[in-house]
Amino acid sequence: MNAVSKTEQQAATPVTRQTFDEVMVPTYAPSNMVPVRGQGLDLWDQEGNHYLDLTGGIAVSALGHVHPEVVAALHEQAATLWHVGNGYTNEPVLRLARALTDATFADRAFFCNSGAEANEAAFKLARKYAHGKFGPSKSRIVSCTNSFHGRTLFTVSVGGQPKYTEGFEPLPPELTHIPFNDIEAARAVITDDVCAVVVEPVQGEGGVMPAAPEFLQALRELCDATGALLIFDEVQCGMGRTGKLFAYMDYGVTPDILTVAKALGNGYPIGAMLTTNAIASAFSVGSHGTTYGGNPLATAVALRVLQIINTPSFLARVTQAADTLTAKLQEVVRDYPQVFDHVRGKGLMIGIAMSEAWMGKAKEITKAAEANGLMLLIAGPDVVRLLPALIISDAQIDEGIARLRKSVDAALAAQAK
Ligand SMILES: *Cc1c(COP(=O)(O)O)cnc(C)c1O
Repeated sequence: MNAVSKTEQQAATPVTRQTFDEVMVPTYAPSNMVPVRGQGLDLWDQEGNHYLDLTGGIAVSALGHVHPEVVAALHEQAATLWHVGNGYTNEPVLRLARALTDATFADRAFFCNSGAEANEAAFKLARKYAHGKFGPSKSRIVSCTNSFHGRTLFTVSVGGQPKYTEGFEPLPPELTHIPFNDIEAARAVITDDVCAVVVEPVQGEGGVMPAAPEFLQALRELCDATGALLIFDEVQCGMGRTGKLFAYMDYGVTPDILTVAKALGNGYPIGAMLTTNAIASAFSVGSHGTTYGGNPLATAVALRVLQIINTPSFLARVTQAADTLTAKLQEVVRDYPQVFDHVRGKGLMIGIAMSEAWMGKAKEITKAAEANGLMLLIAGPDVVRLLPALIISDAQIDEGIARLRKSVDAALAAQAK
């Protein structure tokens, strides 16, 4: 026997961005820098370069990197009990379910590991509920074009972006897409054969588009009139990002099913589907499940995250930070009308739409930003997106704005060459 195994030898060999191209299935095109350490909104790469992270790991790291209280919750649970399987329940999952139902319209929670799985559970529950109550012909699901609900075959088909479904046909049938915020289109298709209508209160991947309050209100009324369930996908906009715990609270329109994931675990994978007693009872023992769903490690972390975010003072600060950041971004847009058109979004979910001349070039801004120590996202080719940790300070907002201005100058200079 070798003293050092092959696996151990490999673990000691340096890995770089190049390694990604050698050993990973090519589903992503990651940046050339490889982050190795984070703290709050600060991040460092393999070379020791510093970045201000305004991506929040795509709306996941709401409390920033390695938040001490969340780390403590993880450490404590890691030394107590990791996993027991669904033949047993556990204390952290029951505490989290209690906290989430106390905090929302919901009576019941189902836990899983991602946003796609939360939506998959929601769509399956809506089908089962309608089948039981109205019969199998009530099976159609209505969603919006440009929406995003995950990457399983069912959720990606419900999502309204053909670029994500091409080549994966045949797709599940009985799905209809309507334009976001189009009340007339909703009226035309939400009829008696519809079992569910699903919408993101603020579209994320689709370009940071807030729903019009009248649109969500109209969907609520159409669902009530036809017996369809209204599902809000708050995987990206939930958990305090809009300044309320969930965006539905701000709109004053209550869904029948709510899905949440991304920020729920602050980076520890977990998703949840929340609903009422009456709807939950359409599922029975064996109807649905997942091995890791509601695992003690994930739920202990999520409970701590929820306790920190769901306080009036924390949420009030999110709104204050959002107002400050948005106002300063509007000044940037005003100073660079050749590059940007307008700022939109809700709370700390912010998009900057590119000008006519810079359509399709949002990525040039995020690339220049990275070279200037600033991490930003895009939401499609025409929108620069910011999803900073909700704990962003005023000093970090100023630093972000300064680096953004430098980056836009650099992008303009590169353009002029
Ligand atoms: C990210 C996202 C999903 C998918 O979540 P995963 O954890 O990637 O499966 C679903 N809906 C919305 C609105 C999202 O932003």
